[in-house]
Amino acid sequence: MTSLAVVVPAYNEDEVLDTFHARLSATLGKLENVQAEVIYINDGSTDDTLSVLHALKAADSRVTIVNLSRNFGKEIALAAGLDHANADASIVIDADLQDPPELIPEFVRIWRQGFDVVYGQRISRNGETALKKASAFAFYRVIGSLSRISIPRDTGDFRLLSRRAVEALRQLPEQHRYMKGLFAWIGFPQTALRYERDARDAGTSKFNYVRLWHFAIEGITSFSIAPLRLASWAGVCVALAAFCGALWIIYKTLMYGNPVAGYPSLMVTLLFLSGVQMIGLGIVGEYLGRMFNESKRRPLYLVQDYLPTGHAVDPAAWPGTRCGRQEHVRLVPDLASQRERLLP
Ligand code: UDP
Ligand code: MG
Repeated sequence: MTSLAVVVPAYNEDEVLDTFHARLSATLGKLENVQAEVIYINDGSTDDTLSVLHALKAADSRVTIVNLSRNFGKEIALAAGLDHANADASIVIDADLQDPPELIPEFVRIWRQGFDVVYGQRISRNGETALKKASAFAFYRVIGSLSRISIPRDTGDFRLLSRRAVEALRQLPEQHRYMKGLFAWIGFPQTALRYERDARDAGTSKFNYVRLWHFAIEGITSFSIAPLRLASWAGVCVALAAFCGALWIIYKTLMYGNPVAGYPSLMVTLLFLSGVQMIGLGIVGEYLGRMFNESKRRPLYLVQDYLPTGHAVDPAAWPGTRCGRQEHVRLVPDLASQRERLLP
């Protein structure tokens, strides 16, 4: 008997969760010799997601609810889910039915052939605008060329992870979690499962362009210091050009005297150089800001309620339920023990 955990982050998904769970549990029912658990992470939803989850849990003993104390974002919700998954294999899937749950048996079949990570790779992106498709295309190519680890193209978070892959992910304490990159970083035998990505079943995407832009910056800065190098290269090039310019001016003055007409060129040079400096400063700032966030060493998330499988809960008593409160707070590697190691 193998155990399987299905990790589902949900943020304002009350419209779609019933359909999702129906399709998921139909699929899980078909798996032989598999004991399944479905871990829903409520990522601080402001709609009825939590009560829908509660109803699902009442009807299905395989459901676990991890209720985060506020909205932490999908990447961290996923980390919370994986921290609570204790199974031979874990599946990560979106709640909006863009990733068909019916593929799970196929993931499990490939995993049994000896792969630690089986990632879903999209053949098509139905129901997405041309702009989103184009920006996604560009993003994967840029990050592919900047980063030393290769992040597979056109993959989302829909995937299966073996126990040791999940344990490897748990060891990564960073606050800035670019999941696709982390999944690739851990290594182990990985393989793709190609599938058609459907349109959202109901509700709206939580990722607007501003958020996608932050996401892209996150991906690039987490996995590459190329922009920092670019800043220093730009500095070197500009300095070289300025040096050649200076030689030229000296030569011209010696040959033809100095007719004092330098204002436009002076202005242009000044503006250009300030621009280059500001860009360089901005890039350094992006990295510095991330170091600042990491150095605070805050827990990744806080769990408000933890309702594990088969746990009988009286809906009337809820949301006051406190089981697991504070116990499942994820802490970054304990500072005290590190200090001990450093001290003589
Ligand atoms: N999600 C989340 N927290 C957030 C935003 C999204 O847990 O802050 C979940 C959401 O409920 C869904 C998944 O992450 O299950 C993917 O979100 P969405 O469909 O909005 O993203 P897209 O598919 O458009 O990239
Ligand atoms: Mg979606």
